[in-house]
Amino acid sequence: HVKERGRGDFSFYQRQMNIDLLTRMKIDHAMREALTEQRFRLVYQPQIDLRSGRLIGAEALLRWKDPQMGELSPGQFIPIAEETGFIVALGGWVLREAIRQSTEWHTQGIGLTMSVNVSAVQFHQANFIESVSNLLRDSDLPPGRLELELTESILVQNIEETLIRLDALVALGVRLAIDDFGTGYSSLAYLKRFPIHRLKIDRSFVRDIPDDESDAAIATAVINLARALNLRVIAEGVENAVQRQFLLDAGCDEFQGYLCSPALAPGDFLPLVQGIGLADALD
Ligand code: C2E
Ligand code: MG
Ligand code: MG
Ligand code: MG
Repeated sequence: HVKERGRGDFSFYQRQMNIDLLTRMKIDHAMREALTEQRFRLVYQPQIDLRSGRLIGAEALLRWKDPQMGELSPGQFIPIAEETGFIVALGGWVLREAIRQSTEWHTQGIGLTMSVNVSAVQFHQANFIESVSNLLRDSDLPPGRLELELTESILVQNIEETLIRLDALVALGVRLAIDDFGTGYSSLAYLKRFPIHRLKIDRSFVRDIPDDESDAAIATAVINLARALNLRVIAEGVENAVQRQFLLDAGCDEFQGYLCSPALAPGDFLPLVQGIGLADALD
């Protein structure tokens, strides 16, 4: 009796696993096709200086609409791309396209910092530094206008090798940020050793400020830490004026979030650049 139930459970779990595997394989296949068919797009979310209200940069975010499955979010396909290693090719495309777009804006007199998300698998590829270096060499973008967003998971793998890579990127003139700061496992001691320029406070700590006292305390602590270490600090996921005011008062430098704008297609980004010069554009 017990044995039977055990077998039943087993086949249930196996069935679940097969469904998951099938979905993963389907998405993997569709992603590869999407890259060749140029179905991936980048959208750009404005980053705003809290004190002046001016636009300072943009974060490039991947979008993908599959003809059959429809729009898939990065949360649905990036983990699969990381698992299969496809993220190396996809991330390479993201870097190239973000640099191309950024260079185009620069030649139009729009000087922004372009932030690009880099996954751990991509960062630890043997030729990652070389590919960044080649892309910058082949473009007219000032290297200081490119920022790579790294997660704490990148920084805790193989510390010595990571440090060499970070130094090499900084030597190219590229800027480095830690994304989703506070959600990972990185030790504060690394912050001192790594040549990082900016911390991004994770949206989960911003969402419920100022009402949630713990989140308010964490956000304030990250801001103070960044200031003490001479790093810039940006808050993610700012959706209302109360959050913005709290962050401004706490000494945060910059913000990103729906309060200003979601990520936009390049054609929608330009009008926003023009509009944002107004001090009251955010109110
Ligand atoms: P992330 O890098 O932390 O990006 C911020 C995410 O928060 C984006 O979601 C953005 O659309 C969303 N967001 C921004 N402001 C707000 C807000 O005010 N409210 C809310 N609710 N959400 C906001 P998205 O585009 O779905 O991307 C999710 C994650 O997928 C990213 O988190 C990043 O980890 C990953 N990702 C996206 N594009 C790329 C890429 O090109 N390469 C890699 N490796 N990862 C990427
Ligand atoms: Mg990011
Ligand atoms: Mg983030
Ligand atoms: Mg985040």
